[in-house]
Amino acid sequence: MSIAVTSVSKFYKTQKALNNVSFFAEKGQIIGFLGPNGAGKSTMMKILTGFIKPNSGTVLVDDIDVLQSPLKAQKQIGYLPEHNPLYADMYVREYLQFQAAIFKVDKSQIEICINKVGLTLEAGKKINQLSKGYQQRVGLAAAILHNPKVLILDEPTTGLDPNQLVEIRSLIKELGKDKTVLFSTHIMQEVEAVCDSVIIIKKGELIIDKPLAELQNNKQQIIKVIFNVTVNESLIQRLDYLVASKKMDRATWQLTFNSEQDMRAKIFDFAQKNDFKVLELSSENKTLESLFTELTKN
Ligand code: ADP
Ligand code: MG
Repeated sequence: MSIAVTSVSKFYKTQKALNNVSFFAEKGQIIGFLGPNGAGKSTMMKILTGFIKPNSGTVLVDDIDVLQSPLKAQKQIGYLPEHNPLYADMYVREYLQFQAAIFKVDKSQIEICINKVGLTLEAGKKINQLSKGYQQRVGLAAAILHNPKVLILDEPTTGLDPNQLVEIRSLIKELGKDKTVLFSTHIMQEVEAVCDSVIIIKKGELIIDKPLAELQNNKQQIIKVIFNVTVNESLIQRLDYLVASKKMDRATWQLTFNSEQDMRAKIFDFAQKNDFKVLELSSENKTLESLFTELTKN
């Protein structure tokens, strides 16, 4: 197993950032790690890379226990942190030489990595003269210098313009051909463009972990229903296959189900059983985008 996260929880003092999160990745997979701001993505990545410790749980990367042998695990991990910290005054090649020296990487890797990320023409420029997209390439080059098996990329495309976005996405895809990649984003389309599978977290909880194809061909049904009376949340929660619920007004709910059955009939049964009536009911198909918005909304 390339990545194995089991029952990881993390508190910052009393603030819970991750709650019992588990997921696994096979070698060569590209996994989109999705969630709104504050969901716990960066925290999970810092734990995976051995920079911070969870309060409980275990983390293996390339079958190495990150908590017990962080240095050994880090040899197999390339990490591009959020906001890509670079030395702006350094030249691209100079910066990569510096990184290679720190990580005791053979110098021959520098030119190989420069070419791999498409920096050949920029290698003699100062980092602060580069566009954000090219700066991300420098960060990616630094992350792959030691030829790790696993890449952890924290929001590598945030803040890029549309052209740069496309370029960095295709670069991630290219790098993913012989590496396992976990990359975080809050953009659903990003995941559709690049990933094999999708993990969604919200408020520290893992809510979806699925192959992309399965999500695209999803069994999600959104049903808007108006009852004749006020129906409270606790009652709504008793509906089977419910994955999200949103109260639109007093008696109107937007309900998201994950089921192959037509949940409309179930809602009628539910109303009857509880002695109220359905005044209106409509269902809509959803795109991956709307599914994500729905799942991660407060
Ligand atoms: P994301 O990367 O998904 O935006 P983070 O992992 O950065 O989320 O943060 C998850 C939660 O943990 C947030 O509520 C955030 O405020 C909190 N948090 C993150 N880092 C720290 C920290 N060093 N100290 C205290 N709280 C933190
Ligand atoms: Mg983050």
